[in-house]
Amino acid sequence: MTKKYPITVAHGDGIGPEIMQATLDILLEAGAQIEIEKVEIGEKVYLAGQKTGIEEKTWESLRRTKVFLKAPITTPQGGGYRSLNVTVRTTLGLYANVRPCVAYHPVISTKHPEMDLVIIRENEEDLYTGIEYQQTPDVCHALKLISRPGSERIIRYAFEYARNNNRKKVTAFTKDNILKRSDGLFHKIFDEIAEEYPDIQNQHWIVDIGAAKLADTPEQFDVVVLPNLYGDILSDVGAQITGSVGLVGTANIGEKGAMFEAIHGSAPTLAGHDRANPSGLLLAAVLMLNHIHQPDVATLIHNAWLKTIEEGIHTKDIYREGVSQKKVGTKAFAKAVIARLGETPEILKRVKYTPSPHEDWAHHGSKPVSAKRELVGVDVTIYSHDGVETLSQKLINATRSKLEAIYNRGVTVWPEGFPETLCIDQWRCRFSADSPPEVVQILSQLVESGLDVIKSENLYEFDGQPGY
Ligand code: NAD
Repeated sequence: MTKKYPITVAHGDGIGPEIMQATLDILLEAGAQIEIEKVEIGEKVYLAGQKTGIEEKTWESLRRTKVFLKAPITTPQGGGYRSLNVTVRTTLGLYANVRPCVAYHPVISTKHPEMDLVIIRENEEDLYTGIEYQQTPDVCHALKLISRPGSERIIRYAFEYARNNNRKKVTAFTKDNILKRSDGLFHKIFDEIAEEYPDIQNQHWIVDIGAAKLADTPEQFDVVVLPNLYGDILSDVGAQITGSVGLVGTANIGEKGAMFEAIHGSAPTLAGHDRANPSGLLLAAVLMLNHIHQPDVATLIHNAWLKTIEEGIHTKDIYREGVSQKKVGTKAFAKAVIARLGETPEILKRVKYTPSPHEDWAHHGSKPVSAKRELVGVDVTIYSHDGVETLSQKLINATRSKLEAIYNRGVTVWPEGFPETLCIDQWRCRFSADSPPEVVQILSQLVESGLDVIKSENLYEFDGQPGY
């Protein structure tokens, strides 16, 4: 008999406890070899004064089991509470968000009956590092961070996922026509890694047209890999256009842990009425079973669930006159799935999970890249209500003519600018400098002249190519 796999389970808030109970009932009836460690997270924990909504003993359980099956929670309004999901993802290093988006035509109404794609979103970098500042009364500034190790890991994950799940193509979306360095790096690494997988097709779209194509003809896509922000938005688009966000589960995977959940929230108005659809959480649990190397149980449950919805046994949220046969509550839905364990769907496509390989590739680490890195200047951000002529004169006087350019909101306004350009109170001023002491000297000269310096950013060339 297989050894039981310990998992951490949180029943959450609102409809969470009902859909979690339904999910666990199905898992246990199907023979999942799991040992449940129940933890408390969410509203009660937040209101008890824990800003992240997670207690210390929950972290201990998560570090021990490394597998988290999580029901939705309610984040109390106001009070500076931090997102529990972001905290778990970043603390445990859950870098890959994996969301299968599948249409269940003709059982669930959708404009895209053929769609069957998987969105793989980078989960830790990009604009979500939370490096964000208010710099002047009028200006806030957020930093988009894309790294080679972070991008290599998620892109390689996407290609490995495609190979292990018999998928044929991986598509990346970036905005590298505008964000030439950050998104440019993601695209470059995508092209490099794609070469290592000649058996998998690869494709890149600029995110705007890619998003339009994804929403219009999702059946053209197979696996889609995205930096964090585009992935956050488009994974919800992907789920929505399947016909029901209530049927989508998601996995957050890291090297040292994984979290599985439905994509919907705690739906407080439905709580306690036995009306919630447990399918999103159940499908997340199926992803979990595959992750913990119980693919047979994952297959058994997924096919029984497909058979249940195919027979028209539907909770209220997906019930449709003429298509559905029977409207059921949460508990009766779970019973219907249990009754069909061992059956397979006849109209919908049946599934078969195969043992997921141990992900040794993830431990290879990033390829070291060497480049000659040379300091060539510094951009200094200044808060000023001066006009560009007065400001440029002050900067030239202060630094003895090292000023090369002034930008406002990314537009060059000096030496040659247009009077039509709207200028705000934050100016990015570029100076030439070829050593750290020279940068420090420029900063001192600016401060001594009474200029209000907000920040500075060194400018480097890499193998003679500007990195700015
Ligand atoms: P929601 O997803 O809870 O509800 C949106 C709509 O979908 C509501 O009409 C709801 O009744 C319905 N719905 C959601 N899940 C359903 C299900 N399983 N079966 C049937 N109908 C379902 O989103 P919301 O109303 O914006 O948020 C409610 C709370 O959930 C908030 O406190 C929010 O912070 C939290 N939330 C938590 C998570 C999470 O824990 N991952 C995610 C999103 C929202």
